[in-house]
Amino acid sequence: MSDIPLSQPDITQSDINAVVDVLRSGRLSIGPRRDLFEQLVAARAKRRHGIAVSSGTAGLHLCLLGLGIGPGDEVVTTPFSFIASSNAILMAGAKPVFVDIDPNSLNMDPNLIEAAITPKTKAILVVEVFGNPQHMDTIEQIANKYELPLIEDSCEGLGGKLRGRPIGNFGRCSVFAFYPNKQITTGEGGMIVTDDDRLAELCRSLRNQGRSESSVTDNLTNNTGTWLNHERLGYNYRLSEIASALGASQMERLDTLLEKRREVVGMYMRRLMDWDDLMLPNCQPGTESERSWFVFVVRLSNVYGQVQRDRIITGLRRHEIGASNYFPCIHLQPFYQRDMGFNKGDFPIAESIGDRTIALPFHPNLDETEVELICHTLKVMIQREQLLQP
Ligand SMILES: *Cc1c(COP(=O)(O)O)cnc(C)c1O
Repeated sequence: MSDIPLSQPDITQSDINAVVDVLRSGRLSIGPRRDLFEQLVAARAKRRHGIAVSSGTAGLHLCLLGLGIGPGDEVVTTPFSFIASSNAILMAGAKPVFVDIDPNSLNMDPNLIEAAITPKTKAILVVEVFGNPQHMDTIEQIANKYELPLIEDSCEGLGGKLRGRPIGNFGRCSVFAFYPNKQITTGEGGMIVTDDDRLAELCRSLRNQGRSESSVTDNLTNNTGTWLNHERLGYNYRLSEIASALGASQMERLDTLLEKRREVVGMYMRRLMDWDDLMLPNCQPGTESERSWFVFVVRLSNVYGQVQRDRIITGLRRHEIGASNYFPCIHLQPFYQRDMGFNKGDFPIAESIGDRTIALPFHPNLDETEVELICHTLKVMIQREQLLQP
């Protein structure tokens, strides 16, 4: 454990009370807390339906299945993301087709998407990397032009906005995630949001062993014995009442949490702004894009490479400061190279950036003293690399 961890959830007494209340209630799954949590998240994304699931990955998997995507189909997506966005495509039996990223936003480059579309393309799966919604409207227009459903992996972007439109409102359906390092947490959990009634009903059934929602409601209210009717092959991707209560309680504080995260970003920016060897995350003043700060990731300038970056991360960790290499490219993960034939050089921009990023400690309760210590140590580690340069 680091003295200053890479991330840390914000848990208050009211979160704890909400969870304890569920434990006392006796109703631990499929109940009013899940319904409330679904309403709160759907409202935030300005969507009609929220479907709580056991993880963000599960949510993406169900969106793909619900859209009928399977073996033989291709889905256009980004190689620069947490691996789950692409693994969900593999879980559905389809093939991820990567396009390189825009070096400023770190999101899929909209100019490269059309060239990746083939007759086999059945969807575009887009990610707001590190919570940045830049290009989402452009990518949505491309999806519409080709009549392809857009799946928005919003797992890093809860609370962000682009020209007034919330993250989670783009495309056919969107997915949030609530792992402990996300903007709000349920321990483990996720949420699909959509305006599509049919897709919502299908996802509700798929998360619950293929039961139809009406048979579940009938059974709960009238004890009709329909709990063991299964319409289709489904999964157990349900979210418990315990997790949902925590999620609903955290949602009440979302704006406060986002504000605290923005303040920590300011503490970092003020200290690192003038440091020539670093590129700081893009704030896009004037583009009406309001990032939801998920992580704080800086990039070494291109005189550095992966070896130096990795040594800097190790050095930070040796000083009890959490740091990580968000993200190594998905297509270079061992099984993507081995089983799918991807190679180094396939997506040069994503690779070049993936070699030079450093995620610094980031959570709502970091203070000036800690940020000062982190920035000071980072500078020392970078200076040490300069001495080692030939
Ligand atoms: C966190 C995350 C997910 C989902 O993660 P789970 O751990 O399954 O909840 C998916 N995609 C991205 C980009 C993420 O950051």
